[in-house]
Amino acid sequence: MSSWMRRIAASYSMYSYELLEHGLGQQELRDAELDLDPPVHLLEVLAKRSGLDQHRVSAMTMSGWVPWLFDTLTPAPDTYETYVHQFSLLLSPGRRNIYAPRKWLPWLSETAAKRGCRECLESGSTLLLFWQVPVMASCTVHRRRLETYEGHPADYIMWTAPAYDQRALPDSLSIMDRRTWQAITTGSVDLPRYPVNAGVWFRLLRTLLDELSTAQGRYGRQLDDVRRVWEHCGHPFRAGLHSWQPFETLNWTVQQQLLEAAAAAMELIEDGSLTARGTSGHLLRPEPDTAISDGTPPGSLIGADGVQKRPTLDELWNQATATLDSCIEAAKTDPVVAKHLFDFARYGCRSEESLRGLRDTFAELQIPLNFLSQTEG
Ligand SMILES: [Zn+2]
Repeated sequence: MSSWMRRIAASYSMYSYELLEHGLGQQELRDAELDLDPPVHLLEVLAKRSGLDQHRVSAMTMSGWVPWLFDTLTPAPDTYETYVHQFSLLLSPGRRNIYAPRKWLPWLSETAAKRGCRECLESGSTLLLFWQVPVMASCTVHRRRLETYEGHPADYIMWTAPAYDQRALPDSLSIMDRRTWQAITTGSVDLPRYPVNAGVWFRLLRTLLDELSTAQGRYGRQLDDVRRVWEHCGHPFRAGLHSWQPFETLNWTVQQQLLEAAAAAMELIEDGSLTARGTSGHLLRPEPDTAISDGTPPGSLIGADGVQKRPTLDELWNQATATLDSCIEAAKTDPVVAKHLFDFARYGCRSEESLRGLRDTFAELQIPLNFLSQTEG
């Protein structure tokens, strides 16, 4: 929003604060205020004057990313727990300390660096607001690392380093960034198992960053797993952090190391060389861990003579409960599965009261009830 306003103002030979004040009847707003959550009135006026629909205009601000990237832009005491601890990926659930940093919002901090793709900006492309959030480390078009700068593109820009960042971009990081880009531009991400909602992707990623930097004493028997991830990406264990700090307040160099470690962890989990013990680990594995039957009897029920045996009641019951467990696990993170499971279970509900009971059961199983309305319509 701030760089768009600057470009519009420049075409009238004005500064953007002059355009805001004299052209749009608005008080001066800092770039950060314009980009985060500008007054609704301003968005309405801008939509009217520019001829764009208001959705396009608000998509140029971070408030346009609620509820995908943020639950809300108003910090609350339990925001951290809700965002970072709803899922677990690499570590078993409940391993990590739950911190409650004051005034915390995911991905945002007061002292954030300005980032951009040098090749994009030098070829005349516009500045992307999404680069300013430390959730991606590379440009998916040019496959180059994002670099930090000072100034206000396109008026003036001074890159922190004099020459292009020549460090190789690991494939794992490139894949992770492409998924992140898919999330923010389309609202869902194709994971090996099935597509997940963008909101799930950003929370999974933030969870993994927390798991890779939580206090060392919390790792228990998984300490070796976490060490392997850090060795695999070639950075010091826990990015050399001595004490815990939320990812958002770390400097960009450390944030990049954590993003690379997250990408390495995903790669190792996906190729099966690292076991994800968290409740959402299955999302990164291409093959189901437990047999979800497609209707054909599993091999174990074929006798030594090659003749199909009739499964015992115990075997059938075990299959059924294993399938149900997998569905419940998947429904915790995937609205589509949650909706299917709900529709299946409600066949037996004959009254409003039993339907309410079913919703209570879903809540007890920690399947988000808002998933049930998300996929409707
Ligand atoms: Zn680029």
